[in-house]
Amino acid sequence: MPDDCKAQPNEKIVIARKLEAEVFKAMRVPADCYTLLGDVDPSFVLSLSHPFRDLVEGEEDDGNNWNFDVPMLPGDHVTDDAGTGFVHTAPSHGDDDYQMGVKFNLPMTYNVMEDGSYRTDLPLFGGQAILTPEGKEGPANVSVIKQLAYAGALFAKGKLKHSYPHSWRSKAPLIYRNTPQWFAAIDRPVGDGLDTYGTTIRQRALTSIDKLVTWTPQTGRNRLYSMIEARPDWVLSRQRAWGVPLTCFTKIGAKPDDPDFLLRDPVVNQRILDAFEAEGADAWYVQGFKEKILGNQHDPNAYNQVFDILDVWFDSGSTHAFVLRDRADGSVDGLADLYLEGTDQHRGWFHSSMLQACGTIGRAPYRGVLTHGFTLDEKGMKMSKSLGNTVAPEKVIKESGADILRLWVAQSDYTADLRIGPEILKGVADSYRRLRNTMRFMLGSLADFTENDRVAPQDMPELEQLMLHRLAELDATVREGYAKYDFQGVFQAVFAFATIDLSAFYFDIRKDALYCDGDTAQRRAARTLLDLMFHRLTTWLAPVLVFTMEEVWLERYPGEESSVHLVDFPDTPGTWRNEALAAKWALIRRVRRVVTGALEVQRTAKVIGASLEAAPTVWVDQATADVLATVPLADICITSAVSVQVGAAPDGFTLEDVPGVQVDFAMAQGEKCDRCWKILPDVGTHAHAGVCARCDAALS
Ligand SMILES: [Zn+2]
Repeated sequence: MPDDCKAQPNEKIVIARKLEAEVFKAMRVPADCYTLLGDVDPSFVLSLSHPFRDLVEGEEDDGNNWNFDVPMLPGDHVTDDAGTGFVHTAPSHGDDDYQMGVKFNLPMTYNVMEDGSYRTDLPLFGGQAILTPEGKEGPANVSVIKQLAYAGALFAKGKLKHSYPHSWRSKAPLIYRNTPQWFAAIDRPVGDGLDTYGTTIRQRALTSIDKLVTWTPQTGRNRLYSMIEARPDWVLSRQRAWGVPLTCFTKIGAKPDDPDFLLRDPVVNQRILDAFEAEGADAWYVQGFKEKILGNQHDPNAYNQVFDILDVWFDSGSTHAFVLRDRADGSVDGLADLYLEGTDQHRGWFHSSMLQACGTIGRAPYRGVLTHGFTLDEKGMKMSKSLGNTVAPEKVIKESGADILRLWVAQSDYTADLRIGPEILKGVADSYRRLRNTMRFMLGSLADFTENDRVAPQDMPELEQLMLHRLAELDATVREGYAKYDFQGVFQAVFAFATIDLSAFYFDIRKDALYCDGDTAQRRAARTLLDLMFHRLTTWLAPVLVFTMEEVWLERYPGEESSVHLVDFPDTPGTWRNEALAAKWALIRRVRRVVTGALEVQRTAKVIGASLEAAPTVWVDQATADVLATVPLADICITSAVSVQVGAAPDGFTLEDVPGVQVDFAMAQGEKCDRCWKILPDVGTHAHAGVCARCDAALS
């Protein structure tokens, strides 16, 4: 054996087989000086002496010596690619070791202080720094190695490189250490009597999630439920210099599980409350606060004032108390109708608010939770300054107006991530323009409309009654959509109505009556309908197009006190619903589509310019012909005349999806009325020159 060899002759050593060469080399045992005796069943070694055993006198459990055995434990984190295959477990330092300690009930030590040195009363190493405040290695490491050598417990030494965490701010290396903390017990009965939804915070939270809260979208329910179902106790304390203090006093010399460890005195608590009420939370840090608060009831020298601060999530989780409960304009029952935030807040604000409220008011602080996705660029990429794909809200507002931005939100499916960019905004602006045109048409047609012009729904033509039916349908869609925060659904329904039912159908047909009729029943009916529509469309869209609808409203109802935002959605009578009429007009609109298609062919071929130049013939079956006979089909098709024939035309125009309807094109016969541009045989035969009978009457 060489002189510097640490092994003794005939010594039996247990090490990982794979590492033998490395270990014996480090021990300076030549390769021909050791032999393998055999494999050892791990269960053969139950416990080992602590290497510092008997270095310091004292009882095994007094915490100030190492006079105990340490158990052999199977650690999944221990590998056989370096060292000996055995690792000393220090459950107070490092996550793997801590988990082992918890699993096997190892005692936790508190030997390392906040400044990175051993506690001063620790034998052998007391006060020595492991890391200096500058982040350099202190003398403790060398001392421990020396003590191991002195105890005859050091076979070899070498240097290993460990990746270890560093402070993100100072870049100094960090030491993992266990510290006592304050917890909110999740599974212990709260003991406040607010047990309607469970006795523990966890029970109350899970019941709230299932029974008391509406989740938008519903997937949020599962996210929070599984998080709360599996979460450990809530660590409330933090060791930071700033924050809201925990406001606890603990008895000096008492252990945390002693009944008198925490000072529980309602008088003291009230004094703390009063002081905070008057001076704010900073009162806790004023010199002499402990003496003032404990007063004559308790000896200040017998109590520690706890300077830990509360987890900031406790602060945010408490918003319901000071926003909804502790103020005159809060909610009646202290609960929120809705908490709204991004999807990342299931582990944040929704979560901490739920726990805090279940501990303080016995249930969730909210009746609804809405989560939204995050905003991405047009291609679905995360926005970043370096990519240059950011869309700043203030820029959109400056260029297009805030209503465009709002409309973009309303059009988007916020339950997923939302996309925004120049092309998408162009589409939004186009939708906006079409809605604006719809409102402008109504405003123009309603000028000087008075209550004297109003017509009862039952006295209106079928076309107006059909639109009332659509309004009644929409009323339900809009109310239900808003109640569910389905802004996209509301917008799509109203937008489809404005573009398909109004611009391309109703307005198109009724333009003639509105512009050219005299004071006819038909025109009165149309204007009454427009008035009813105006009140609904403006109020329905006001939550989204805040400025535009206000502008539209004030155009009709000017005044300092006037505002669309002070007007409720009008009640829509159920009697407006008329399914039979809707079915009948669905048929009429199908026929109209074939006529429009036939005219479009002639328009493209430049045979006609306007549809009023046409007088087509429509071929249908008898049942359809009977239906068409009950309505002014020429008006509906915006032609000067139309004739309906039963049967089939061999070369008629058809649409594939409208079987049984054929249209033969023909030019309208007669002269063009100078006023309404209809081409009719009677133009020029009336008192006023160059006009049709209707226009002649209007002029008289
Ligand atoms: Zn005319």
